[in-house]
Amino acid sequence: MASSLKTYRGKRRFDVTAEPKGAVTAKRGHAFVIQKHAARRLHYDLRLELDGVMKSWAVTRGPSLVPGEKRLAVQVENHPIEYNKFEGAIPQGQYGGGTVMIWDRGTWKPEHDARHALTKGHLSFTLHGKKLHGGWHLVRMHRRPGEKRDNWLLIKQQDDAARRPRDKDILEEQQLSVKTGRSMDEIAKAAKRKSIAKKAAPRKTTGRKKAGKKTGKKTKKTTAKRKSKRKRAGDAAGHQLA
Ligand code: MN
Repeated sequence: MASSLKTYRGKRRFDVTAEPKGAVTAKRGHAFVIQKHAARRLHYDLRLELDGVMKSWAVTRGPSLVPGEKRLAVQVENHPIEYNKFEGAIPQGQYGGGTVMIWDRGTWKPEHDARHALTKGHLSFTLHGKKLHGGWHLVRMHRRPGEKRDNWLLIKQQDDAARRPRDKDILEEQQLSVKTGRSMDEIAKAAKRKSIAKKAAPRKTTGRKKAGKKTGKKTKKTTAKRKSKRKRAGDAAGHQLA
């Protein structure tokens, strides 16, 4: 079970980023979150809770309420459930560096068995969020040779929550955080202020010493080396969504 967050952890340096290390939980809930993420390219990360983790897709152009609009959703690594609370900034130069906003959240419900549907490549589900409601489809496309990730399409189902092409775009209409009411700019500025205050403050040694004692210096060094190696490998892959 713990291995389902291995990729997530391998991509991140938790001594640098404010993102949670998280854990696979035994809790069986149906949380969903959509995080607006201004990384190298702006995208919306859709996360659905299943088996103690958040199954995740980077939706490149964000969700559309128009059933005819198919939005590319690149499946990315599972995230910890704790990640649902994360709003702030990932430092530049780190994996996925950029501002993260909790754009929507709530609960989701699969129409059929979710595990089977994901294996099969067609998940139909309902969202009960603050912004998004009603039925949706996630449909997996065939993997082309050389593609490292599964590409899915996120499509709105035809129902009361659907809109017509001439209606207002939900992404334009609802731009602020559901958690704090802040804009992307406000989140970025607040995170910057926080990081400056942290640098200016006298360094607290307690946390550092404790960590040193626990892991031992040798282990710490090796871990850092391994991590930087992994980081290089990640950069080489060079995908823009993170
Ligand atoms: Mn992302």
